[in-house]
Amino acid sequence: MSLPPDLINELQKQFTGDIRLDLASRVLYSTDASIYQIEPLGVLIPRVQDDLHSVVELAAKYKVPVLPRGSGSSLGGQAIGKALILDCSRWLDNIIEIDPESHTATVEPGVILSALNRASAKYGLMFGPDPASAERASGTMQLAHIRFCTACLPII
Ligand SMILES: Cc1cc2nc3c(=O)[nH]c(=O)nc-3n(C[C@H](O)[C@H](O)[C@H](O)COP(=O)(O)OP(=O)(O)OC[C@H]3O[C@@H](n4cnc5c(N)ncnc54)[C@H](O)[C@@H]3O)c2cc1C
Repeated sequence: MSLPPDLINELQKQFTGDIRLDLASRVLYSTDASIYQIEPLGVLIPRVQDDLHSVVELAAKYKVPVLPRGSGSSLGGQAIGKALILDCSRWLDNIIEIDPESHTATVEPGVILSALNRASAKYGLMFGPDPASAERASGTMQLAHIRFCTACLPII
């Protein structure tokens, strides 16, 4: 499967982040922390949240698979595939709001878990799961391990 030229044209008009379709970038994103290697169709690095909307809409229109990626520290090959890789770790790593009253944090998908925990610590809160990869693992970790407890943050 290759990317339809019309999809690339539309991406170049709408997407404000980096569009990397060259071989070097595809090889770079063909691995994660697992033993597997799969070359993706291309790599997109969104700069703003609207870029995420554009990619999902265009990918659906052209029936091309999309694979979001955080820090790529997955051990089972979850962050690689024959898809358009959406690397959220570069620009979309902000903490938007922490509400200590509702124990809720609103974050961008690439937020690093340890950064979220440092920001939450001033309210006496932390995100429940405490993986060894916390200095690298991103919002993905939060998506994958949502937990609720009295001292923990549910993430939206
Ligand atoms: C040294 C080391 C130690 C580790 N220790 C632990 C540990 O103690 N406990 C533990 O549970 N795991 C551990 N892991 C595994 C890994 O760190 C976790 O699985 C972590 O959650 C992966 O986060 P990531 O940001 O790297 O995700 P990625 O590897 O980038 O992605 C993981 C999956 O989430 C999907 N995804 C990414 N972003 C989004 C998004 N925005 N929306 C929807 N889906 C998305 C991806 O498509 C992929 O399927 C460790 C890994 C390493 C290398």
